[in-house]
Amino acid sequence: MQLQCNFLPQDDGHCGWYETLPPPPPSTPLRGTVQADWVVLGAGLAGLAAARRLGELQPDASVVLIDAKRVGFGAAGRNSGFMVDLPHDLTSHSYTSSHEADHKIIRLSRGAIDYTREIVQRHGIDCDWREQGKLHGAANARGMHALESFAKGLSALGEPYRLLSAEDMKAVTGSDFYQAGLHAPGCVLVQPAALTRGLGQNLPENVRLFEDSPVLKIETGQVHSLTTAQGFIKAPRLVLANNAYAANFGQLGLKGRLLPIYTYASMTRQLTAEELARLGGEDSWGLIPADPLGSTVRRLGNGRICVRNSFTYNPRVQASAATLQRVKQAHRRSFDNRFPMLPNVEFEYTWGGALCISRNSGSVFGEIAPGVFSAVCCNGLGLTRSTIAGKLIAEYALGMDSDLLSIMLEQPKPCSNPPEPFLGLGVRSALAWKEWTAGVEL
Ligand SMILES: Cc1cc2nc3c(=O)[nH]c(=O)nc-3n(C[C@H](O)[C@H](O)[C@H](O)COP(=O)(O)OP(=O)(O)OC[C@H]3O[C@@H](n4cnc5c(N)ncnc54)[C@H](O)[C@@H]3O)c2cc1C
Repeated sequence: MQLQCNFLPQDDGHCGWYETLPPPPPSTPLRGTVQADWVVLGAGLAGLAAARRLGELQPDASVVLIDAKRVGFGAAGRNSGFMVDLPHDLTSHSYTSSHEADHKIIRLSRGAIDYTREIVQRHGIDCDWREQGKLHGAANARGMHALESFAKGLSALGEPYRLLSAEDMKAVTGSDFYQAGLHAPGCVLVQPAALTRGLGQNLPENVRLFEDSPVLKIETGQVHSLTTAQGFIKAPRLVLANNAYAANFGQLGLKGRLLPIYTYASMTRQLTAEELARLGGEDSWGLIPADPLGSTVRRLGNGRICVRNSFTYNPRVQASAATLQRVKQAHRRSFDNRFPMLPNVEFEYTWGGALCISRNSGSVFGEIAPGVFSAVCCNGLGLTRSTIAGKLIAEYALGMDSDLLSIMLEQPKPCSNPPEPFLGLGVRSALAWKEWTAGVEL
């Protein structure tokens, strides 16, 4: 079977998380033919976890991990840095789903946090790891309703949380924009590009990493062959961890089931001491909108503010300059609504990144063709969901068994989508409607 990688990762704006890090040491692109026992396509969170776990479990095997870009440059380093432990279903009004499904998602997410924490501590990865939980902020009646449903859902799950008044929210954020909030303690906040780069720099010795090496074509067989502009990788076992870019792999049954959705963020310059004093509030916090279509906001320990909002359907898995310009204006409006006391704080960086969503929040996990394993479709929550999918796909491929693996295998598969042009029309109008109803939460 021959798979063409028609849509390759692009630059998609300037990511503040990546560009505020020191430049990385030079990359090692793939040249010539490399034989290995395993090849993992995509060095995002799923691919890094899969390659690491294979290397850990099979110290004598050779594992190759390959990415089109530098580690940390893609969506894994472009996200808002919330390692979310609680249910976070973006298709639900209040993030929650059924009681039993939510319990299982929590176990998977905490499995990912525990695994990552141990690696971060063992290797001393400097990624601003903060176990400080997340805020949910409500700014209108719809948001208040979503917040109440979320709180009810957490109570039913027996999960701790603290409700916050408008004054409490101002005391933390400095902003009187929020009418109410909720603090959930289990979320970890990170600098995502620093975390991802650190994971890539501390892989087991039997994992070889090739960066700046877009895979153009894959031929599957007894020995799979991956082709780049300057080389080949030959391996009998392949792990797909290329998330939204897998949406085009029709022969593997993925086309017509996955939705490449983009979301966008902007990061300000560093605020001056006088601006920080004018803002007030705490030095570092992370806020998720009560309404899933609203704006995520983080104040970073280094005095910058990061705003994320807007979703677009991008079947070509890239963001145009015009879209980046439009979302920057949306970020500006959201920033000004929340921080009118900071009128002259401009954004230094604006970027987009690809999520992979399915309409029923299912994921593609398992052996999807002989010797081809998949950890694809994070449903917008890669820091935990892709990490655990990557770790567990390695365990699954090696015939292991565990409670977490059973939970992962029970997760639904992505349902099929209507054909184009109905799909595009439907997704775009659903996103526009949901953003419109989110109102000021945006
Ligand atoms: C602005 C924004 C904010 C977000 N906020 C959060 C958040 O706070 N918390 C959270 O959990 N998630 C968040 N997300 C989602 C999260 O970033 C993704 O879910 C996560 O990156 C998915 O990880 P992954 O490893 O599955 O896929 P990716 O990170 O997309 O990794 C796939 C990799 O495959 C590589 N690849 C693809 N095709 C090829 C090819 N042909 N050849 C070689 N390499 C290839 C890509 O370069 C990429 O590195 C956010 C995303 C964005 C864009």
